Amino acid sequence: MIVLKFGGTSVGSVENIRKVADIVSNTRGRKIVVLSAMSGVTNSLQKIINLIELNKAEEAKKEIEELNKKYQQTVYELFGSGGKFDEGIKEMFLFNEKLISYLDKKYSDRVEKEILVQGELVSTYLFQQLMVENQENSTLIPALDFMRIDQFGEPRMDYLNEKLSSVINSHQNDDTFITQGFICENNDCEIDNLKRGGSDYTASLIGAALEVDQIQIWTDIDGMHNNDPRYVDKTFSIDEISFDEAAELAYFGAKILHPQSIIPAKEKNIPVLVKNTFSPESPGTLIHDKAKVMKIRAIAAKDQITAIKIKSYRMLMAYGFLMKVFEVFEKNKTAIDMITTSEVAVSLTIDNTAKLNEIIAELQSFGNIEVESDLSIICIAGDLAQNKKGVTSAIFNCIDEIPIRMISYGGSNYNLSFLVKTTDKIPVLNLLNDGLFSNLKEVESKNILV
Ligand code: ADP
Ligand code: ASP
Ligand code: MG
Repeated sequence: MIVLKFGGTSVGSVENIRKVADIVSNTRGRKIVVLSAMSGVTNSLQKIINLIELNKAEEAKKEIEELNKKYQQTVYELFGSGGKFDEGIKEMFLFNEKLISYLDKKYSDRVEKEILVQGELVSTYLFQQLMVENQENSTLIPALDFMRIDQFGEPRMDYLNEKLSSVINSHQNDDTFITQGFICENNDCEIDNLKRGGSDYTASLIGAALEVDQIQIWTDIDGMHNNDPRYVDKTFSIDEISFDEAAELAYFGAKILHPQSIIPAKEKNIPVLVKNTFSPESPGTLIHDKAKVMKIRAIAAKDQITAIKIKSYRMLMAYGFLMKVFEVFEKNKTAIDMITTSEVAVSLTIDNTAKLNEIIAELQSFGNIEVESDLSIICIAGDLAQNKKGVTSAIFNCIDEIPIRMISYGGSNYNLSFLVKTTDKIPVLNLLNDGLFSNLKEVESKNILV
């Protein structure tokens, strides 16, 4: 059994949906196909939610109409000459009515979550209807029947295992299962989601639960690149990468993978193959535990980082001080990304500022607090074990003109990260690319990178 996940662009147009159908049909054996919403749809749903929150029902209605037009057109192009047309139009009408029904409601977290899942429900419906029309056997299994998170937002693997295995086992003769990425139920059996980009996470969780042979992430680029192609021109696809390195890059901003999506696969040692829907013949990137060691594999950047510095002459070296600091973050359910300490101060970074005021107020009893926002973490992933010579100097030589706010090295063997102003992010990514990768052959011969 394998899992194939297709992202928004892959199901973003009729032409692309047909490509996905071809890839699925050409994949032998039992498989679970996980689909995202069509590209732009989740953003559009989020816009509708924001307008409802601002009590702008008329504008929200216009956005719903736009979405409905897109769906009608998709049904027309997919089934215009086939038997599924009337049924498809009827189904899109029902989706439209559902969205319209929220215009009478006041904004709430519930309304937000119920609206956000609509995109994946539509894309999976359309895709399965296409499979029926193509006379390909397939079974649609609703993610809400098996994907559940607990009160802390963590996936319930036991539940997933039990529910999903029982559905699959009850369809012994079926090869192709289709389900929604991203969407789930929470502990109170309400509709919820796995956060933006969460379809990758769905795929990995399903793969881990069923202990599949491989998890394939099909997207709009030929695998994971050595640097962020949105900001750097001369990036290239990586053939293979270890779970640890891929997990660091995903966590620190490589948009191609949801931040948590590698962990379930790593825990069950299931290889993840990242492939391009628009170039299926390209080898893509294999994430597995046997990747050849590279000193520097790839670079990523994570934005919207806030640094908090706590200066305390009295307490820092006293035992228990850091525990008290961490307790403040724990109480406010805010994760810390980076941390550095000195004799008199500790600096740490967060990306979720929802509770920043509460955190600052509580930290003030420990000392003087300084807060700086609009920062980015630059993450360099590779086999950066501390005894490898030349790696750190190669990195910092490239960027010696750039002010660095914090550095984190040695926390794991696979990551060196540092904090810069977001305005310096693009120059830093480019300088590192030129300095570390542009002349790979020459650098390899100097044994800096490999
Ligand atoms: P999908 O809709 O298939 O989930 P995403 O847009 O979430 O696709 O992720 C693919 C995009 O991630 C690429 O088009 C690329 O712009 C971006 N990206 C960022 N960092 C990387 C990287 N290191 N390697 C490849 N793509 C990356
Ligand atoms: N549709 C969701 C999003 O746009 C989930 C995903 O595509 O992975 O975030
Ligand atoms: Mg994605």
